Amino acid sequence: MFRNRVQLKSILAAMLIMASFTPALLSAQKASPVAPRRELVESVVREAYDKFKGDMSGKNADYIPYLAQVDSNMFGIAVVTTDNQVLTLGDVKYSFSIQSISKVFTLALAMEELGADKVFEKIGSEPTGRPFNSPLAVVDMPTHTGNPLVNAGAIATTSLISGKNAAEKWNKILDFYSKAAGEKLVLIDEVYKSEAATNTGNKALSYLLAKYDRIYADPFESVDVYTKQCSVGVNATQLARMGATLANNGVNPATGEQVIKRENIPEILSAMTMAGLYDGSGGWAWHVGLPAKSGVGGGIVAIAPGKGAIAVFAPPLDEAGNSVKAQKVIDYVAQRLNYNLYSPSSVGLK
Ligand code: GLN
Repeated sequence: MFRNRVQLKSILAAMLIMASFTPALLSAQKASPVAPRRELVESVVREAYDKFKGDMSGKNADYIPYLAQVDSNMFGIAVVTTDNQVLTLGDVKYSFSIQSISKVFTLALAMEELGADKVFEKIGSEPTGRPFNSPLAVVDMPTHTGNPLVNAGAIATTSLISGKNAAEKWNKILDFYSKAAGEKLVLIDEVYKSEAATNTGNKALSYLLAKYDRIYADPFESVDVYTKQCSVGVNATQLARMGATLANNGVNPATGEQVIKRENIPEILSAMTMAGLYDGSGGWAWHVGLPAKSGVGGGIVAIAPGKGAIAVFAPPLDEAGNSVKAQKVIDYVAQRLNYNLYSPSSVGLK
């Protein structure tokens, strides 16, 4: 009896998982130039889901109190292709805080406003080899800002965004993220409050940057806008669509809008390659070979240029602050689908 119930439960769960794939946009038969083997993508994603579902290694971030109490079991995968096919599996409706993944899109916005050269001059793009919140990196590195994807460089990047006051800058940032996601995104107020009450380290970084003239607006105001941008809520599908916008030369595949200038995409993806997973970036490039960005909220998005993006949400993190399950899933899917950018076969060489 008990066994039957368990069986019934797993059949139901399997049916739910299958139902949550959304063939709606494609209705499986339609030919796609970028995902010609949709069934293969579906089965590989499903395999990865099953393979890593039970892996509970890692630990939720707890230096932001809100994040410590997010359910560690949540697990969602979303793939969005450049021709706007959507595949989703697991907890893809839950809205988690975007955290550091926001840094990519504020970088993109700063580049829209100032151009790539100016942003490079003001921020730089060197890996720090240190944890994402390291003050030592600010002191040691010749640029002090390091790159746009560690906290110091990201706070400095946020300080570049124009606006007559903090509210105008924040609204501009939120609006830009929403265009990349193709949906209106909102602040998770509880995350913002939790982080704003505990972000003394980031405030210290902002003043350290001021010492070297490497922050371009009021330091604490910049930290506050940065804290808000990190507290924006996204679900895995929205995050995958933001990634697909990068994969699609800056055009959101769902809305058709050119959100990010085409000419800025290579620099953004290169910054993600150098520092997207912080001091885990070298190992990631070695094993996976895709530009990606993680956030301490448990999300990672990886970009297969011209093809699409995969976003995974699973809160427990490794030492560097990267979701353990998300890394494993993306690694698995990228290997199976031959997405590694550095592999000649990824561009069709036999
Ligand atoms: N808001 C977080 C912080 O500033 C972002 C860090 C992250 O996601 N790695 O610490």
